[in-house]
Amino acid sequence: MTLHIPGNGEVQLSESQIKNRIVELGQQIAKEYAGLEPHLICVLNGAWLFHADLVREIDLPLTVDFLAVSSYGSGKTSSGEVRLTKDLSLPLADRHVILVEDIVDTGITMHYLLSYLQGRMPASLRVAALLSKPSRRRIEVPVDYLGFTIPDAYVYGYGLDRAQYDRNLPFISSVEP
Ligand code: IMP
Repeated sequence: MTLHIPGNGEVQLSESQIKNRIVELGQQIAKEYAGLEPHLICVLNGAWLFHADLVREIDLPLTVDFLAVSSYGSGKTSSGEVRLTKDLSLPLADRHVILVEDIVDTGITMHYLLSYLQGRMPASLRVAALLSKPSRRRIEVPVDYLGFTIPDAYVYGYGLDRAQYDRNLPFISSVEP
């Protein structure tokens, strides 16, 4: 059984580290949105576990929705062109939206999504991202609720894939380049 053996890279986030940080983020969001009903949009596929765990740590009435994007091209880096492959089901007008992403790398995907969502006239729009690689940024984007800042390494596990596999690992790991 090799599934649960982490890689040898410098990014290693254990199941309990991830869990503890999400509890903190959930409490912070609950405090800052007290009296409101936030609407948490999950960016599929990578953010689905983070989104599912985060919403359960927010002790407020809230709603959820899902969208999916893909970058044109293939490989481990964004091609620079983003395409919406699954649209939202619910309207955003007057909603306090929190966009929930797995990782902000170049920022291109987040930049695209923020301008797309802003066009739907939400009452407010913030970003929660589990991971950020600031050294890779090509477009500056706001991250209001950040789990962990990591160095430039390809990470997988806890929703993030390695050639579509390893999303089911309970931890986040990387391998030496
Ligand atoms: P960006 O547009 O370059 O910021 O890339 C954002 C998307 O690329 C994320 O939502 C992920 O789907 C993917 N991505 C970027 N870095 C990684 C990584 O290290 N592991 C897995 N997916 C990644």
